[in-house]
Amino acid sequence: MGKMTDCLVIGGGIIGMMSARTLIMEGVSVTLLDQRECGKESSWAGGGIISPLYPWRYDDLTNELSFASQIIYEDLCLQIFEDTGIDPQYIQSGLLMMDEYDLPLAIEWMNRYHVDYQFHVDGALFSNIAQVRNPRLLQALKVDILNKGVDIIEYVKVNNLLIKNNKVIGVRTKDKNYFAQDVIVCSGAWSSKWLKLVDEVFPMKGQMIILKSTKSMVKNIVLDQGRYIIPREDGRVLVGSTMENVGFDNHTDIGVQKSLHKFAYQRFPSLFNVKIEHHWSGFRPASLSGKVILGRHEQFEHLFINTGHFCNGLNMAPASSDRIKQLIINA
Ligand SMILES: Cc1cc2nc3c(=O)[nH]c(=O)nc-3n(C[C@H](O)[C@H](O)[C@H](O)COP(=O)(O)OP(=O)(O)OC[C@H]3O[C@@H](n4cnc5c(N)ncnc54)[C@H](O)[C@@H]3O)c2cc1C
Repeated sequence: MGKMTDCLVIGGGIIGMMSARTLIMEGVSVTLLDQRECGKESSWAGGGIISPLYPWRYDDLTNELSFASQIIYEDLCLQIFEDTGIDPQYIQSGLLMMDEYDLPLAIEWMNRYHVDYQFHVDGALFSNIAQVRNPRLLQALKVDILNKGVDIIEYVKVNNLLIKNNKVIGVRTKDKNYFAQDVIVCSGAWSSKWLKLVDEVFPMKGQMIILKSTKSMVKNIVLDQGRYIIPREDGRVLVGSTMENVGFDNHTDIGVQKSLHKFAYQRFPSLFNVKIEHHWSGFRPASLSGKVILGRHEQFEHLFINTGHFCNGLNMAPASSDRIKQLIINA
């Protein structure tokens, strides 16, 4: 029999690690299980923009979680930097929207949430939008939660729940059972693979490239026709992304690589000769309803779900994790 903990977190992406952090800071003991290495899936693959792209296309919950996170993100990054020595490189780089977006919807959204933008020769500039260098944030977060006492167990795949009298009492892996008072499912695009969720979660692949420029050729995050360019602090430039409903096929293809590069140098010709340093893909956790799945499970006691964040897990993680913590500590 495995050891008993207050809370088991299944999955160590941004959502699982942030959930673990909020709980341990309330004195809840946490064990986090990941089938691979924490932080190396969708959360690593993403762009780190701290806002939904075209937020007016999303539901109220997504907007609420995103705004609530935006308020605390900078301080959170500073705190994690101070505690770990790893800088998540939070930068308020602003987002320049170059395309002709859905104007009536956008205006209604801006009025509702009191969001302002400036006219720019190339489009609309949302100067408050920030970014984090997500791989660095994940590295820092892992060190931080380990230091705070979270028990991280990697390369352990959860296969099922342990249930007694309609109450979840832990999880089953190939070799061992883990017991806990509460279980939180944060296993991203894989969530429905091991657990039948009412609202099914499936992978939506995205490919991305990084260009090894050293001086800052791009000032703001640029968004145009669903694709974007993100300038990092050291001058490197990320270009994304695709939206591919192809299951768990993680191949990257050269055609996509070329078209992402072209998208970038058509807008910033100086990027034409810049070397493509890396090209990768990741699986966004999409849900059938298109909504985040956040809260207590309807059928089983002591089971909580925090997944389905689709394109917005990095920007919603702080508030989404805070909500789960509130539910658990007030139960
Ligand atoms: C190309 C791309 C660009 C993106 N850009 C942005 C952006 O700019 N801004 C933004 O906010 N979001 C962005 N996203 C979305 C964001 O990355 C995701 O919403 C977020 O990472 C989801 O976090 P997660 O922790 O749920 O998933 P993941 O990071 O995928 O973590 C899930 C974890 O669960 C583990 N796991 C799964 N099954 C099991 C099991 N059975 N047992 C144990 N462990 C298990 C996995 O190993 C994994 O580590 C982007 C995504 C992609 C792919």
